[in-house]
Amino acid sequence: MAEKRIIIIGAGVAGLATGCYAQMNGYSSHIFEMHDLPGGLCTAWERRGYVFDGCIHYLYGSGPGQPYYRLWEELGAVQDRPMIDHDAFMRVVGPDGRTLTLYCDPDRLEAELIAHSPADAALSRSLAQGVRRFASFDMSVMQAKPRSMMSASDGLALGRTMLPYTGPLLKWGFVSAQQLAARFHDPFLRRAVAQMFGWPEMPVMAGLSLLAYMHSGNAGFPTGGSLAFARAIEQRYLALGGRITYKAQVERILTENDRAVGVRLYDNSEHRADVVISAADGRATIFDMLDGRYANRAIRARYAGSLPMHTQMQISLGVDRDMSAAPHWATYLLDEPLLIAGEERREIAIKQYGYDPTLAPPGKSVVEVMLRSEYNYWQRIYGRKLYDIEQLDEAQVVLAFLEKLYPGILEQIEASDVATPLSYERYTGNWQGATSGWLLTPQTMRMMIMGVGKTLPGLRNFYMAGQWVEPGGSVALAAMSGRNVLQLICGGDGKPFHAETPPRAAG
Ligand SMILES: Cc1cc2nc3c(=O)[nH]c(=O)nc-3n(C[C@H](O)[C@H](O)[C@H](O)COP(=O)(O)OP(=O)(O)OC[C@H]3O[C@@H](n4cnc5c(N)ncnc54)[C@H](O)[C@@H]3O)c2cc1C
Repeated sequence: MAEKRIIIIGAGVAGLATGCYAQMNGYSSHIFEMHDLPGGLCTAWERRGYVFDGCIHYLYGSGPGQPYYRLWEELGAVQDRPMIDHDAFMRVVGPDGRTLTLYCDPDRLEAELIAHSPADAALSRSLAQGVRRFASFDMSVMQAKPRSMMSASDGLALGRTMLPYTGPLLKWGFVSAQQLAARFHDPFLRRAVAQMFGWPEMPVMAGLSLLAYMHSGNAGFPTGGSLAFARAIEQRYLALGGRITYKAQVERILTENDRAVGVRLYDNSEHRADVVISAADGRATIFDMLDGRYANRAIRARYAGSLPMHTQMQISLGVDRDMSAAPHWATYLLDEPLLIAGEERREIAIKQYGYDPTLAPPGKSVVEVMLRSEYNYWQRIYGRKLYDIEQLDEAQVVLAFLEKLYPGILEQIEASDVATPLSYERYTGNWQGATSGWLLTPQTMRMMIMGVGKTLPGLRNFYMAGQWVEPGGSVALAAMSGRNVLQLICGGDGKPFHAETPPRAAG
């Protein structure tokens, strides 16, 4: 029998992973990607010898033998790629210089929190205990099989695996960092704890399990950065016999009698297939490429605009200065708010990448400032301002702040770049430039636990993969969703799902 043909829309991590598993299972797949390179949000860009990374700060599955590692091995992404582990996730620095170091080691974290506020010792101990409890938590079990393929005994087995974590999950899964912060007595911790996981709505459980993964060396930074990581998966896909066409934007998903039968590109060419999988933006897939014909009430509600998303502005700088002694990620709490991009800011987060020497020339550094920023603001001013650091008032405010922190740094800037939510939207097609689909908060945690369907009601031979069907996003969940889709397709075709790691190069 001829191989089934599968078309995949998008060569982000989800699309590439989907393609790899399609090839491993004997399907003939073809990815159409609108950009001229792979990775989607998992990307980086070069300016004057500096590599500005736009994505991974922590990679679930970076530690051999640990959850998700096997996934990356199958996708050829971790072999021969040194991982860089940090002993602390973040430093939060108060206006007076008081610093909370968010150690990944729960003993150090406990001591650090208690040193800041003995009056909050009980809460601090309970948090550190949470990190210890999540140390053995294997998140990947939730995606080991698509929910719809789970038998009663699979469900029971999953329930048994999850049982020891039910207590901490209920305790910390539906509390945000912001709500946790309000329980502290110490005024500094009341501000710092809200910011310590990156965003105040982050469920504490997600933060604690991240610390636990970092502590066990399973959430490191892949040397070479995000684009090199995505390129490795692209190479794996091509080696498996997959085909990618770049600069090929899908306009429509073609259907006949409620079956997906192919795609039409913006150049009007039509491409037929037995199965179509969209690993592109969810809203565009459902409401533009398919005209909303296969959306029920629940799907419409999801895309009505009330669920939280994360959109941001990133200012990237290449500086002729060795910053490697600075914290890799620090959030500064401000006394006097700064007005940037239409919003008063009381915090500014700064990352530096000196720990990976491949990203800057010797002795020089990449510094990135990340600010949450509303899509609507940028859409309103689009056309009136140029996206150029010299001409952007927003960037000037940030640069003045950096100069106060690191005197002389302005003179040392050799390369710069600004990305706004409009840049993310333009380069990846993601709705409003969302960086991870639905933002993980106590509100979306339920969606994550229950899972989001990978098919659309009434449409056969069609699947979705990627961050819009895995609330909270992340490269690991996006890649796993592609694996899940192939499990569904193999199941539908009555054959066992197969996955393999690439053969090691001889020598
Ligand atoms: C600043 C930032 C920091 C992050 N930090 C981390 C982190 O530390 N750890 C982590 O695990 N994750 C992180 N993430 C999240 C992670 O990058 C995403 O969740 C993940 O990469 C999503 O992958 P995806 O394949 O689902 O979607 P995307 O990456 O959005 O891929 C979709 C692809 O489809 C293409 N496409 C869209 N429309 C069309 C069309 N019509 N035709 C053809 N192609 C199309 C796009 O060009 C794109 O290549 C971060 C993201 C950002 C932006």
